[in-house]
This record gives sequence, structure tokens and C-alpha cells, in this order.
Amino acid sequence: MSVNITTRPGPKSQAIIERDSVVMTGALTPRYPFVIERGEGARVWDVDGDEYIDFAAGIAVTSTGHSHPKVVEAIIEQAKKFIHIAGTDYYYDVQVKIAEKLAAIAPFDEPAKVFLTNSGTEAVEGSIKLARWYTGRAHVIAFYGAFHGRTMGSLSLTASKVIQRDGFFPLVPGVHHVPYNNPYRCLHGREEAACRAHCTCADYITNVLFKKDVAPDAVAAIILEPIQGEGGYILPDKRFVQQLRDICDQYGILLIADEIQSGMGRTGKWWAMEHHGVQPDIVTSAKGLASGMPLGAVIARQHVMTWPPGAHGSTFGGNPVSCAAALATLELIENGYMANAAEQGEFIKECLEEMQTHHPSLRHGRIDGTGLMIGAELVLDAARTPAKELRNRVERIAIDNGLLILGAGESTLRFCPSLMIERAAVQEGLERFEQSLTQAEQEAGLL
Ligand code: PLP
Repeated sequence: MSVNITTRPGPKSQAIIERDSVVMTGALTPRYPFVIERGEGARVWDVDGDEYIDFAAGIAVTSTGHSHPKVVEAIIEQAKKFIHIAGTDYYYDVQVKIAEKLAAIAPFDEPAKVFLTNSGTEAVEGSIKLARWYTGRAHVIAFYGAFHGRTMGSLSLTASKVIQRDGFFPLVPGVHHVPYNNPYRCLHGREEAACRAHCTCADYITNVLFKKDVAPDAVAAIILEPIQGEGGYILPDKRFVQQLRDICDQYGILLIADEIQSGMGRTGKWWAMEHHGVQPDIVTSAKGLASGMPLGAVIARQHVMTWPPGAHGSTFGGNPVSCAAALATLELIENGYMANAAEQGEFIKECLEEMQTHHPSLRHGRIDGTGLMIGAELVLDAARTPAKELRNRVERIAIDNGLLILGAGESTLRFCPSLMIERAAVQEGLERFEQSLTQAEQEAGLL
């Protein structure tokens, strides 16, 4: 008989996890043994009454914290009026209101038009359908390390982990993956050192991809995460993003910014693209948009959103209850939580940098990102050998210490709490994190 040597999960949690394993699909990524009972702000409680600081926010989703009273009120008020009518066939004001708001904050100097969806992957599907429709071209360029979703079109763009694609081929044709960020490993046959001096990802697209693989005038879009999320919380070089814009302008290609994880104020600005000073043609949003209610959006320059009637649609997309939650969410983000994200994010980064001085696994790793989208990479040595097992251990030990924290990429931990998180909770969470890291490093013989 196996003995549970940890204090968490408690018996009620364990019973639910066991029942889950009988009826729920085994397809989900190995989950953490945390069974939620309720949440409030940046804290959650499990069914055994144990409390946790939530640095995961349901994968960067609960932007206004768990069950914010204003969001709950908006949901209840809307649900009392009507829950569904099908925005594909009829009109309702709350849908117009959220579209107006999203158009007003769109990160480009041109009026915007909006298509509302249920999820992130559906927003990505919409964005590539729109790019194909508008340009009349078939091909799309995406990046290694990218995560754009799991439905067939989005999955074709995703190139984060083989397990996500394995067994599902053939995917949608016409997708070309290229290295993310500068510099990339040279594929021109030059010495790598020489390559690093002058090869950029843009060189790769123009000198390799466009010469050997696909003609630029057959490419509809380049789809980019302005901060790579699932791939490891990587903030790319500004020059890289500008070079992509230049390529798009030169060849009539659309630049799609997938801001599903990085958008809605998480980075301290409405959109991460604003940090790069580059304007996309289409933006996708979801995750933090409605504080956890299912809602996504394709936001495009007006001259691009040229779908004719009947070209696209979704029964549940733009659900009125989700739209009402989103309106309340965006108001809270605009009136304080976005600024809080910038401030708390800066503090988390400083604390992690300080921890680098006395934690061997942090010392040579990347501390990357901005606002409340921060990644800390755990590595074994100066050559930055990924400390994957150690990272996984920290996540698990953190549960015992009352902290929810998620991994990203090969060996990164992501710090993506709700945008409303107060300094006290940040400090407490960081203490629990450091305690967990120390324990894991001791177990691995690093301390
Ligand atoms: N795009 C990005 C950048 C994401 O991070 C995700 C989800 O993690 C998606 C798309 C897919 O969103 P969803 O899980 O809502 O389909």
C-alpha cells in the first residue's frame, strides 16, 4: 500500500482525484493534485480547507482575481435578463459594447472590427481564416516554440511540444515554422559564431524560407506571440518584431499578434505588442478577457475584416454573460489592475534576480518577461542545461507549501497571477516559492 507522505492533497481532494481518473479523459497534461473549493482574489482553497496563493490564475486567465464581486454581479445581472440568443442571428447591446471597447483599445492606428469567439483556439482559427480570405493566399508562417491552441488549424501552427501534435497528422497544410527571436542557429552553413554576428530570424525568412520553401506572395500571414507563453515565457528582441513587420509590409503579408496570453493588461499595457512599438494587422484575445468566462476575440483592422455575410460564425461566440463579465473585467483592468500588474511584476522580477545570487538552479537561467508575465528558467549549469526534473519537483513541492505555480517551456516556471494581486500576497507567494525551490535543490544535492 502506498503511503501519502505529503500533507496535501487531503482526503477529500484525493477522493475526487481518484473519481476523476475513472471517468475523465487521460489526455490532459499531468495535473497538479489541487481540487478547488473556492477562490477569492489571488487566493484559493481546496476541498479539504487548505489555503493557497495562486500564481497561476488558471493559466493567466482570472485577470481580476477569483470571483471578483463586480464581475460576479455583472454575470448575475446578465443571466437574469437572458443567457443566449445567438449573436450570429440577432443583436444585443452587451455584445456591441464589448466590441466597441475592444475596437477602442486595438493596438493599431485604424478603426477595428471584431469577431467574438468562445476560446483562444477559436480566435486563432478565425484569424487564419480571415488572413486567407483577405489575401487570397494559402500559406502561414509560425514559430518554433509557439502555442496557438489544439484544434486542427491552431494545432498546425503550434510547435511547442511534439506530444501536442503526435498522432494527429496530417495537419492543415501550408504552415511553415521558423526560429523565434534573434539570433537563430544558422542554417546557411556558416560557422555559428559568424552567423550570430549577422544572421537574424528575418534573414532566415527572406534568405532561406522564401528562396527554398515558399514564395512570399503565397504567404497570407505571419502569426506571432509577442511574448512566447507556453514555449517558455520568452520576451523577444524588439528588432525581431520590427523585422517581421518590415517583411509583412514588403510582401503584402498580414501580421497576426496572438495576444491570447499576453494581452488584456497582463504585461502592464493592454497589449504586449505595445512594448515592441509594432502594430499588427490582426490581434487574437481570450484568456484574461472575461476573468474566466469563456470569451475570445479576433480584432482586425477595418480594411482587413472583409468577410462577407455567412463567411464565418459561432453559436456561442460572444455569449452575453461572457460579454457582461468582460465589460466589468476591462473596466477594472483599466482603472488600476493594469498599473498594478506593471508594479507587482517589477517587484517579482527584482526578487527573482535577488534569489539568483543564492539558488544554483536560478543562477544561470533566464528571468524574462514583463508585467505579470514573468518566467524564471531553472538550469543545471552555465551552459544552461534545462533542469526539467527539478522544475517539476518545485511545482509539486509548491502545492505542499500552499502555492499554485505552473511550468512553461522545458524548464521554466511562470509567474502569472491575477492582475489585482496585492503586494502582501506576492511576498507570501514568493516566500512559499523560495521555500519550495530550496527543498527541491536540497533533494537534488545542489545545496
Ligand atoms: N494562443 C496562446 C498564445 C495561448 O497561450 C493559448 C492557450 O494557452 C491559446 C492560443 C489557446 O487558447 P485556448 O486554450 O483558449 O484554446
